[in-house]
Amino acid sequence: MRTLEQVLADGIRDIPDYPQQGVMFKDITPLLADHSGFAQVVDALAAFGRDDDGNPVVDKVVGIEARGFILAAPVALALGAGFVPVRKKGKLPAATYEESYALEYGEATIEVHQDAFTPGDRVLVIDDVLATGGTVEACLRLIRRCKAEVVDTAVLLELSFLPGRKRLAGEQLRALMTV
Ligand code: AMP
Repeated sequence: MRTLEQVLADGIRDIPDYPQQGVMFKDITPLLADHSGFAQVVDALAAFGRDDDGNPVVDKVVGIEARGFILAAPVALALGAGFVPVRKKGKLPAATYEESYALEYGEATIEVHQDAFTPGDRVLVIDDVLATGGTVEACLRLIRRCKAEVVDTAVLLELSFLPGRKRLAGEQLRALMTV
């Protein structure tokens, strides 16, 4: 079996200048197309939702639109937990809470359904890439507004030259790979 490091190195490719000049986009589609690699990554992410004996300790797994959905849904199934989508503004049909955060130019807003959690739910948050940390930070605010408890946050890839980890100081934050 390949190591997790090998799977991630093989499955995440750099696309320069996407979606705009100067950005090195980390494309996970080769990893998703690799069945055994994808399964290994899902297992590794699901481990963050288990205790030392391997028992699940989360009630919900949150995926952040859009690539976070692809990762979080199988993790939720593996843990016997529910899946909750956190979406960009205007996509969720029922009553929502929203949180905004600053982008390099302008602002972004994400939302969650107000009834997505039972108060006290223990939550694992999953996304593909941690860059400036603004998206995850806003997502954690949403979950806490719903009176749920964030147990852990996990990403496939952390871009350590950006201030994401610093911004999320004090949070439990895991990355399967850091560049
Ligand atoms: P941030 O809020 O800056 O941490 O950005 C994180 C969100 O933007 C995640 O949902 C990522 O999917 C996406 N993202 C940011 N930078 C990149 C990148 N270089 N490659 C791929 N996705 C990225």
